[in-house]
Amino acid sequence: MLVRPVVRNGYAYGPLALEDFRILPDVAGPVRRIREAGYLTVLATNQPGISRGMRDWETLSRMHALLRETVPLDAVMVCPHTDRDGCECRKPKAGMLREAAARLSIDLAASYFVGDTDRDVEAALAAGVTPVLLDTDYNQGVTAAHRVASLEVAADLITRR
Ligand SMILES: [Zn+2]
Repeated sequence: MLVRPVVRNGYAYGPLALEDFRILPDVAGPVRRIREAGYLTVLATNQPGISRGMRDWETLSRMHALLRETVPLDAVMVCPHTDRDGCECRKPKAGMLREAAARLSIDLAASYFVGDTDRDVEAALAAGVTPVLLDTDYNQGVTAAHRVASLEVAADLITRR
Protein backbone atom coordinates (compact mmCIF):
# COMPACT_ATOMS: atom_id res chain seq x y z
CA MET A 1 0.00 0.00 0.00
CA LEU A 2 2.06 2.90 -1.33
CA VAL A 3 -0.56 5.14 -2.89
CA ARG A 4 -3.47 6.96 -1.30
CA PRO A 5 -6.69 5.12 -2.11
CA VAL A 6 -9.73 6.86 -3.52
CA VAL A 7 -13.00 5.95 -1.80
CA ARG A 8 -15.96 5.38 -4.10
CA ASN A 9 -19.27 3.91 -2.89
CA GLY A 10 -17.66 3.00 0.41
CA TYR A 11 -14.83 1.00 -1.17
CA ALA A 12 -11.19 2.00 -1.47
CA TYR A 13 -9.71 1.86 -4.96
CA GLY A 14 -6.48 2.86 -6.59
CA PRO A 15 -6.75 6.29 -8.22
CA LEU A 16 -7.90 6.23 -11.85
CA ALA A 17 -6.87 9.76 -12.78
CA LEU A 18 -3.36 11.17 -12.63
CA GLU A 19 -4.62 14.19 -10.64
CA ASP A 20 -5.86 11.84 -7.87
CA PHE A 21 -2.50 10.08 -7.64
CA ARG A 22 -0.80 10.72 -4.29
CA ILE A 23 2.07 8.71 -2.86
CA LEU A 24 1.43 8.09 0.83
CA PRO A 25 3.78 9.91 3.19
CA ASP A 26 6.33 7.75 4.99
CA VAL A 27 6.56 4.99 2.38
CA ALA A 28 9.75 6.00 0.55
CA GLY A 29 11.90 5.84 3.71
CA PRO A 30 10.97 2.31 4.78
CA VAL A 31 11.29 0.94 1.23
CA ARG A 32 14.71 2.57 0.94
CA ARG A 33 15.78 1.03 4.26
CA ILE A 34 14.67 -2.42 3.13
CA ARG A 35 16.59 -1.99 -0.10
CA GLU A 36 19.71 -0.75 1.65
CA ALA A 37 19.59 -3.88 3.83
CA GLY A 38 20.22 -5.88 0.65
CA TYR A 39 16.71 -6.78 -0.47
CA LEU A 40 15.26 -6.20 -3.91
CA THR A 41 11.98 -4.30 -3.73
CA VAL A 42 9.10 -5.30 -5.97
CA LEU A 43 5.57 -3.95 -6.20
CA ALA A 44 2.94 -6.55 -7.18
CA THR A 45 -0.44 -4.97 -7.85
CA ASN A 46 -3.84 -6.25 -8.97
CA GLN A 47 -5.32 -3.78 -11.48
CA PRO A 48 -8.61 -5.35 -12.60
CA GLY A 49 -9.79 -1.92 -13.77
CA ILE A 50 -7.70 -2.47 -16.91
CA SER A 51 -9.62 -5.62 -17.88
CA ARG A 52 -12.88 -3.85 -17.04
CA GLY A 53 -11.97 -0.92 -19.26
CA MET A 54 -12.05 1.55 -16.36
CA ARG A 55 -8.32 2.13 -16.39
CA ASP A 56 -5.78 2.48 -19.17
CA TRP A 57 -2.23 1.19 -19.30
CA GLU A 58 -0.78 4.56 -20.23
CA THR A 59 -2.08 6.34 -17.12
CA LEU A 60 -1.07 3.43 -14.93
CA SER A 61 2.43 3.42 -16.41
CA ARG A 62 2.75 7.15 -15.74
CA MET A 63 1.64 6.61 -12.14
CA HIS A 64 4.23 3.89 -11.70
CA ALA A 65 6.91 6.10 -13.24
CA LEU A 66 6.00 8.86 -10.74
CA LEU A 67 6.03 6.32 -7.93
CA ARG A 68 9.49 5.10 -8.90
CA GLU A 69 10.85 8.65 -8.83
CA THR A 70 10.15 8.68 -5.09
CA VAL A 71 10.11 5.05 -3.96
CA PRO A 72 13.08 2.84 -4.91
CA LEU A 73 11.51 -0.19 -6.62
CA ASP A 74 13.45 -2.79 -8.57
CA ALA A 75 10.36 -3.98 -10.43
CA VAL A 76 6.67 -3.29 -10.74
CA MET A 77 4.46 -6.29 -11.52
CA VAL A 78 0.91 -5.66 -12.70
CA CYS A 79 -1.99 -8.10 -13.09
CA PRO A 80 -4.53 -6.40 -15.38
CA HIS A 81 -7.12 -9.20 -15.04
CA THR A 82 -10.29 -9.91 -13.10
CA ASP A 83 -11.13 -13.19 -11.37
CA ARG A 84 -13.15 -14.17 -14.46
CA ASP A 85 -10.08 -14.01 -16.69
CA GLY A 86 -8.66 -17.01 -14.83
CA CYS A 87 -5.05 -15.80 -15.11
CA GLU A 88 -2.11 -17.03 -13.06
CA CYS A 89 -1.00 -13.57 -11.94
CA ARG A 90 -3.96 -12.12 -10.02
CA LYS A 91 -3.39 -12.28 -6.28
CA PRO A 92 -4.14 -14.54 -4.33
CA LYS A 93 -2.26 -16.51 -7.00
CA ALA A 94 1.50 -16.36 -6.87
CA GLY A 95 2.23 -15.61 -10.54
CA MET A 96 3.54 -12.07 -10.11
CA LEU A 97 5.81 -13.08 -7.23
CA ARG A 98 7.15 -16.08 -9.14
CA GLU A 99 7.73 -14.03 -12.29
CA ALA A 100 9.58 -11.33 -10.35
CA ALA A 101 11.66 -14.01 -8.65
CA ALA A 102 12.59 -15.57 -12.00
CA ARG A 103 13.37 -12.20 -13.59
CA LEU A 104 15.46 -10.81 -10.72
CA SER A 105 16.83 -14.08 -9.27
CA ILE A 106 15.03 -13.56 -5.98
CA ASP A 107 15.15 -16.21 -3.25
CA LEU A 108 11.44 -16.40 -2.39
CA ALA A 109 12.03 -18.34 0.82
CA ALA A 110 14.22 -15.48 2.08
CA SER A 111 11.70 -12.83 1.04
CA TYR A 112 8.80 -10.94 2.58
CA PHE A 113 5.60 -9.73 1.02
CA VAL A 114 4.02 -6.72 2.69
CA GLY A 115 0.33 -6.22 1.98
CA ASP A 116 -3.00 -5.25 3.42
CA THR A 117 -5.46 -7.90 2.24
CA ASP A 118 -6.12 -11.62 2.51
CA ARG A 119 -5.21 -11.85 -1.20
CA ASP A 120 -1.74 -10.52 -0.39
CA VAL A 121 -1.24 -13.01 2.44
CA GLU A 122 -2.43 -15.93 0.30
CA ALA A 123 -0.24 -14.93 -2.65
CA ALA A 124 2.77 -14.73 -0.34
CA LEU A 125 2.08 -18.16 1.16
CA ALA A 126 1.47 -19.67 -2.30
CA ALA A 127 4.87 -18.36 -3.42
CA GLY A 128 6.66 -19.51 -0.26
CA VAL A 129 7.24 -15.93 0.88
CA THR A 130 6.76 -14.71 4.46
CA PRO A 131 3.66 -12.49 4.60
CA VAL A 132 3.63 -9.24 6.55
CA LEU A 133 0.17 -7.75 6.99
CA LEU A 134 -0.26 -4.01 7.47
CA ASP A 135 -2.88 -3.57 10.18
CA THR A 136 -6.05 -1.87 8.90
CA ASP A 137 -9.65 -1.73 10.08
CA TYR A 138 -10.78 -3.84 7.09
CA ASN A 139 -8.38 -6.77 7.58
CA GLN A 140 -9.01 -7.70 11.19
CA GLY A 141 -10.32 -11.12 10.10
CA VAL A 142 -7.12 -11.97 8.22
CA THR A 143 -4.50 -14.18 9.86
CA ALA A 144 -0.83 -13.67 9.08
CA ALA A 145 2.45 -14.60 10.71
CA HIS A 146 3.27 -10.91 11.10
CA ARG A 147 0.81 -8.05 11.61
CA VAL A 148 2.42 -4.62 11.80
CA ALA A 149 1.13 -1.11 12.38
CA SER A 150 2.94 0.52 9.46
CA LEU A 151 5.43 0.09 6.65
CA GLU A 152 7.99 1.60 9.01
CA VAL A 153 7.47 -1.29 11.45
CA ALA A 154 7.50 -3.76 8.53
CA ALA A 155 10.92 -2.37 7.56
CA ASP A 156 12.11 -2.81 11.16
CA LEU A 157 10.97 -6.43 11.09
CA ILE A 158 12.52 -7.22 7.69
CA THR A 159 15.86 -5.51 8.26
CA ARG A 160 16.36 -7.05 11.69
CA ARG A 161 17.25 -10.40 10.11
ZN1 LIG B 1 -3.53 -11.60 -14.10
